[in-house]
Amino acid sequence: MKNIYDMTRDDLIMWLSTYNIKSFKAIQIFEWLYVHRVKSFDEMTNLKKELIELLQENFSISDIAIRKKEESSDALKYLFELKDNNLIEAVVMKHDYGVSVCVSSQIGCNMGCKFCESGKLKRVRNLEPGEIILQLLKIEEDAGFKINSVVIMGIGEPFDNYENIIKFLKIVNDAKGMAIGARHITVSTSGLVPKIREFADFPLQINLAISLHASNDKLREEIMPINKVYKIGDILEAVKYYIEKTNRRVTIEYLLLNNVNDSKEDANELCKLLRGLNVYVNLIPYNETSHLEFVKSSQKRKDEFFEILNRNGITVTVRREFGGSISAACGQLRANEVNKS
Ligand code: SAH
Ligand code: SF4
Repeated sequence: MKNIYDMTRDDLIMWLSTYNIKSFKAIQIFEWLYVHRVKSFDEMTNLKKELIELLQENFSISDIAIRKKEESSDALKYLFELKDNNLIEAVVMKHDYGVSVCVSSQIGCNMGCKFCESGKLKRVRNLEPGEIILQLLKIEEDAGFKINSVVIMGIGEPFDNYENIIKFLKIVNDAKGMAIGARHITVSTSGLVPKIREFADFPLQINLAISLHASNDKLREEIMPINKVYKIGDILEAVKYYIEKTNRRVTIEYLLLNNVNDSKEDANELCKLLRGLNVYVNLIPYNETSHLEFVKSSQKRKDEFFEILNRNGITVTVRREFGGSISAACGQLRANEVNKS
């Protein structure tokens, strides 16, 4: 049976129309699910009995289980178990300005980045839109706060699960759904060029982040095998198209790996690549994992890298480190759990 959380409002309207039921019923169903957060169709008391029965015959109101939770002062990390026993995780980050949540988009990831826990595990399957929605619903229910922003930076490559991500984004952004503003939603990709272009044509004003992590193809290919398919030049061309189409500034994520991609030459090369593009660079401190060959950049190397970008007029920030003590890089909690069993 289909999970009702997989349905966008338009999907529901379509489904209702096949029974000649008026479209505004979709609004009522959405309000029950996302405002009142009911767990059964019986509780949808302003719907006719016939419609409730029809919903019961066709849909489930699915759930996910919290398998483990780790907590620190500024972060919360959830390990979820899905219906088929697969494990995924989500991280909650508490900022002064609100709560943001990092969700997973797939079980495992086929991109195989050398520094990433998620890439170690080949993709088992894509997450359904409802399974991504449920990460948010479950967190709000368990933690008792309202999520202000969402980043798709957990386990998986979102653009390798494009259709489901688009449905997820529509539901999250829907004023009658989770009602999180498009500008408070960010999708991060390792650089699947055709999907970046397709996303440029998607009408919602969602933020795009590119995991670049290297400033030349040779190095990027070594640490991110997907670069054999989509070169840096092609990615930046697609980014240019995205900016032209959406007028939105794009985030370039750059993971700082000690003595791998953090030299002065790397920084200068990055400046050259990005010159004239409406982007800003977010330097990411590496969360050390079981990939022992990678360690985080020293403070000195990080500062020098930052300064070079700054001097070259590139807007640059360093990502704040959350909950280091709770294996905060997405994929780590899952990896710990799977390796144990
Ligand atoms: N697949 C997408 C989104 C998920 S990964 C992507 O690659 O963009 C989200 C971000 O976390 C990426 O920038 C990724 O390179 C980074 N990342 C992976 N492992 C990390 C680690 N151990 N420490 C810090 N960031 C990491
Ligand atoms: Fe996949 Fe992103 Fe990890 Fe690369 S960094 S393996 S694309 S999740």
